[in-house]
Amino acid sequence: MSGRTNELVLVLNSGSSSIKYQLLDPDSGAVAASGLVERIGEENGAIEHQTGDRVVEHEGPIADHKAGLQLVFEMFADTGYDLAGIGLRAVGHRVVHGGEVFYRPTVVTDEVLTALTELSVLAPLHNPANITGIESARELLPGVPQVAVFDTAFFHGLPAAAKTYAIDAEVAAAHGIRRYGFHGTSHEYVSGQVAALLERDPGEVDQIVFHLGNGASASAVRGGRPIDTTMGLTPLEGLVMGTRGGDIDPGILLHLMRSAGLDVDGVDRLLNRNSGIKGLSGVNDFRELQRLIDAGDAGAQLAYDVYIHRLRRYLGAYLVELGRVDAITFTAGVGENSPKVRADALAGLERFGIRIDPVRNNAKDRAARRISPDDAEVAVLVVPTNEELAIARAADQLLS
Ligand code: AMP
Repeated sequence: MSGRTNELVLVLNSGSSSIKYQLLDPDSGAVAASGLVERIGEENGAIEHQTGDRVVEHEGPIADHKAGLQLVFEMFADTGYDLAGIGLRAVGHRVVHGGEVFYRPTVVTDEVLTALTELSVLAPLHNPANITGIESARELLPGVPQVAVFDTAFFHGLPAAAKTYAIDAEVAAAHGIRRYGFHGTSHEYVSGQVAALLERDPGEVDQIVFHLGNGASASAVRGGRPIDTTMGLTPLEGLVMGTRGGDIDPGILLHLMRSAGLDVDGVDRLLNRNSGIKGLSGVNDFRELQRLIDAGDAGAQLAYDVYIHRLRRYLGAYLVELGRVDAITFTAGVGENSPKVRADALAGLERFGIRIDPVRNNAKDRAARRISPDDAEVAVLVVPTNEELAIARAADQLLS
């Protein structure tokens, strides 16, 4: 790997109190090192840094993102990668919201940072952390191009009927209110992998992708271009998620504000932290939910049933929107690892050409694979997502 270090890209996914990172080769996808900084700003901060089989840990207070990255860079240096000296190709940053302005990978300049800061109003939980990560990386690696890759980009060209909310058009226009969609890097990467797996031109494949992780979204993709997705102005809309409930009647919020005295912060907490699987069962991790269900917990069972019900509702919608579907694909933590969710999501749909082979579905296989019988009309697939690789490749291509 050391002979190729001038081609490596460092990918950063900066959250409000965490930074996930990978140093990787955008051509081969080989990961040179990876790690996670957690609990930034707290007394018990932690970093786990992995190079090959070697894992290095740090525990102790981490004041802010810059301090966290500084520690990470020291760990890189101790394990053979002096990031300031190896001629990094780029630092690729995951940025959640690109608004109407950013829909392509973009080299970060002062002007871009200003525009990103203005967009924070659309993604107050995510964009400020993304920006802090970019600023820290810029300071620590001044000569290296910083590239922002947007979660919303893939969905920029959604058809007008799919991206428009039926509210006062002037209000919507004045405040940038439209459906933007998120997890775009994952939906784009996975739908591309599907076409490759089916050995078909992406332009010929009509497909539905379920990205089911802690956050969850689905997309309908016709010939490589999305025609609909479940997330909207923010990542709150659509499917049931770990701590977000997805679609709800907006009247619930009016009712709670009028009758329960909830203010903006209260609504924010309810929608972002205390809803979804967590709101219904008390836990947000799907494995814990499964344990509760196995122990006979009724709230956990209901949470699961609501989760599957919503998945199927969107599956039905997207089958109709697309009219013809070549592939249905599951990705991310739950989608890649839960045969039960996949089987329950697609149960009883034989008349639509949708079938799952139970042996294939239950196989403990980490690779991208087909889980439908070979002769099924619709290919059902499991495809591991790889947002880091997609971001590294986007940054690399932009600079080529
Ligand atoms: P992600 O956001 O893609 O990292 O996905 C996180 C979610 O995947 C969490 O809810 C995990 O509980 C879930 N997950 C991870 N592994 C498994 C598994 N083996 N079975 C079911 N869910 C899993």
